[in-house]
Amino acid sequence: RAKAAGGNRFEFADAEADARAITRHGLTNALPAALERGEFFIEYQPLVHLHDGSVHGAEALVRWSHPQYGVLGPDRFIPLAERTGLIVPLGRWVLEEAVRQARNWQRQHGGSALRINVNLSPTQLHHPGLVADTVAVLENSGLAPGALCLEVTESALIGADDELLEPLRRLAALGVDIALDDFGTGYSNLANLRRLPVSVLKLDRSFTKGMQQQPANPVDVKIVEGIVALAHSLELAVTVEGVETGAQAAQLRDLGCDTAQGWYYARPGAPDRIHTLSLSDAVPTPS
Ligand code: C2E
Ligand code: MG
Ligand code: MG
Ligand code: MG
Repeated sequence: RAKAAGGNRFEFADAEADARAITRHGLTNALPAALERGEFFIEYQPLVHLHDGSVHGAEALVRWSHPQYGVLGPDRFIPLAERTGLIVPLGRWVLEEAVRQARNWQRQHGGSALRINVNLSPTQLHHPGLVADTVAVLENSGLAPGALCLEVTESALIGADDELLEPLRRLAALGVDIALDDFGTGYSNLANLRRLPVSVLKLDRSFTKGMQQQPANPVDVKIVEGIVALAHSLELAVTVEGVETGAQAAQLRDLGCDTAQGWYYARPGAPDRIHTLSLSDAVPTPS
């Protein structure tokens, strides 16, 4: 009935939905060969200390250079790779490549301070090889476990039982940092934080957005203030994502956040750009 009443518009919407489903199907089928052919690549986005703008490390963000559709962002294919399980070999490739890259930066700088953040999706958390694979990648590269931070979304850990947390506890015991990504969006029980083997909270971009207006959104300011106080009392560091303006950076620094990431500092890009922002070179800091 709706279709008849809406005429072409609905048929058009249906056709569009069909086209999207066909594309999803095609992309899903193409994933394994794409991994074999080396069509994935990683962009790196610097993480910066808010107090002086020096580079703390970088987050590895995967992209797919698709022969037909061009460069696809992770939101287009990670969910598909999750569903088919291809995320396990793809995630292992990202980890290996990112850790190798971090080790290269360290060699070029002659220091060991530069750190690398790698995202883990829920399927990887459930995969029994996670700890052994991670340990092997670290040993083969020579990167210290303390230079690696694995990012897990808050929603992936909501209601997590001890069995799910065990591999993360083991990695944390080896010195690997675990960050709670997109924090503040998952409605998790704050008291639950004590149970999780995490050392970093990555505050979701939605809070950073509230700092963009002048004056900053007072409710967001209160929330960030509360989260920072709680995090620091539990000895967790606070990273903020999506910092796009100097005003946001200044506000978040004044609220006590530790590190930041966002277009204001640098967009995700090629690995050679990271080491041009050297460890001590301050990138522009808010006044
Ligand atoms: P995320 O881990 O929360 O990564 C941050 C996202 O915010 C990235 O999007 C980054 O490009 C974007 N971003 C950074 N600064 C700004 C800013 O100032 N403004 C705005 N508007 N956006 C900013 P991207 O690269 O599209 O990645 C999206 C998500 O895909 C990531 O969110 C992460 O959850 C997932 N992802 C990326 N790489 C991997 C991977 O190797 N494995 C897995 N499992 N997931 C990945
Ligand atoms: Mg992340
Ligand atoms: Mg995030
Ligand atoms: Mg996010």
